[in-house]
Amino acid sequence: MYNYRITNIRLELNQGWSALPEKVEKACGLSAGTLAESDIAVRKESLDARKKKDIHRVLTLDFKYCGKLPARGRKRVSAAPDLRPRAIAPGEKPLAGRPLVVGFGPCGIFAALSLAEAGYAPIVVERGRPMEQRVADVDAFWQEGKLDPESNVLFGEGGAGTFSDGKLTTGIKDPHIHQVLTSFVDAGAPEDIAYAQKPHIGTDILRKVVVALRKRIEAAGGEIHFNTQMTGFEQNENGELVSVELKTGEEKWKHSTNAVVLALGHSARDTFRALKDMGIPMAQKPLSIGVRLEHPQRIIDQAQYGGQTGLPPASYKLSCRAQNGRGVYSFCMCPGGEVVTASTQPGMVCVNGMSNRNRDSGTANAGILVDVRTTDFPSTDVLAGIEFQEYWERRAFEYGGGRFAPPRCSFAEFRDNTGRGPEVAACLPDFAAEALREAIPVFGKRIRGFDSDKACVTAVETRSSSPVRILRNDDYESALKGLYPAGEGAGYAGGITSAACDGLRVAEAIVRRFAPFLDKV
Ligand code: FAD
Repeated sequence: MYNYRITNIRLELNQGWSALPEKVEKACGLSAGTLAESDIAVRKESLDARKKKDIHRVLTLDFKYCGKLPARGRKRVSAAPDLRPRAIAPGEKPLAGRPLVVGFGPCGIFAALSLAEAGYAPIVVERGRPMEQRVADVDAFWQEGKLDPESNVLFGEGGAGTFSDGKLTTGIKDPHIHQVLTSFVDAGAPEDIAYAQKPHIGTDILRKVVVALRKRIEAAGGEIHFNTQMTGFEQNENGELVSVELKTGEEKWKHSTNAVVLALGHSARDTFRALKDMGIPMAQKPLSIGVRLEHPQRIIDQAQYGGQTGLPPASYKLSCRAQNGRGVYSFCMCPGGEVVTASTQPGMVCVNGMSNRNRDSGTANAGILVDVRTTDFPSTDVLAGIEFQEYWERRAFEYGGGRFAPPRCSFAEFRDNTGRGPEVAACLPDFAAEALREAIPVFGKRIRGFDSDKACVTAVETRSSSPVRILRNDDYESALKGLYPAGEGAGYAGGITSAACDGLRVAEAIVRRFAPFLDKV
């Protein structure tokens, strides 16, 4: 057990972990040779590139030391936090059947893992296909334009995160983050994701990690059914969930249970519609719309690092407010990545960004998005956000030539409304096109070359967050008792890590309430 934490330890770019014992000893006034490298755990590593001529790393470390620290040392340290997952005392309410997890994205994976390892033997249903088949389906889509509405960039084993940039950065503060990141490491991810300030796993590694997590869930008593869609619920006269209607291919079946984690992701539009018909309380939610913008990676590296070499491909985070009052911001920036088409329905196109672990494509891309308010939606219907997204995705499909080829142009064409610029602008509401034309040159003042004529603009990015919120109470439960809406699709997460944390929170709520199921399996 590490007992002390020390922050702000500086490490030069060419220094390795072997330099750490001496640095900690000096900072704490301990004599040389007191600490070994194995007494120290790196908890956070960030790159300080504020001064281009003095780029270095800054670390937070936990270390073990049994004696009393000298007074000077005590000033610099605090007690190391206990990072072990909290033990949750199981509840007493009997489960009417094995708990069900709907969706096997990051939220469903971590909910299932937590439930399985606590002895709740969950059953997972995922409408998409297992990894290997899904990868083949996505390849067929990207190469030949053949869309499988059930197995694609957003649906299938690993959820939307699988074909992603695999950034694990999150804006939330949550004690579960460490558990999520170390579970990824235990499943084969590189160790640095557990401490890097901007952890990045990459789609290539993430695919293997997801399969390893699935095997861990199965080994702990979980069961996973692919090609299986949740289509409805049955409830009793007390408003309690009693069973779930499922469909595997053409076969319909039911699973009796009184505990369901609903981890649908943000693109299960047919399921959102079915939930509305079932009367599950939901609310409208604002969203964003915009384009993917691509630059040569060297432009971003030059702006962030000056001439310094030997550093990872640089990223950026930009935001401003346009004169029409709309917020414009960069989203899901992928250094050394590629722009991907991420459709789930025929006749509609949307884009996103993806990268491999080594981020070596030479091209940087990011969503440049404009905020969309619920008053921009076509109606006050709870699912009007979906209608809004579908409208603009249909335009992108049409303007891309009726194929899954998103409209593209240069920034000069977009700005001046020449060449293919009008086709790209036609995939955006006027307020968004106007705000983007104004904001990109503003960002060009912060990153030289950002507004270059040649930057490539691709439309349309619509799926940065869920268009609805599925309401839940402080115990994470819907008005339909026993239903636990979770993750990004329910409106409680944005990104892989936060969706995984929400899965853990909801699993804990189920453990707190129900008695384990394992003895009945
Ligand atoms: P999802 O991952 O969407 O999983 C939901 C699952 O539920 C899906 O597999 C779906 O098939 C299944 N499902 C839906 N309806 C049903 C049903 N009725 N029955 C059974 N199964 C159903 N986030 C990051 O943090 N970093 C990134 O770098 C990043 N890059 C991205 C790049 C791309 C191309 C995309 C598309 C997304 C990216 N994201 C990224 C976002 C991230 O993927 C999501 O935030 C995250 O996956 C949400 O997790 P989730 O489990 O809530 O939902």
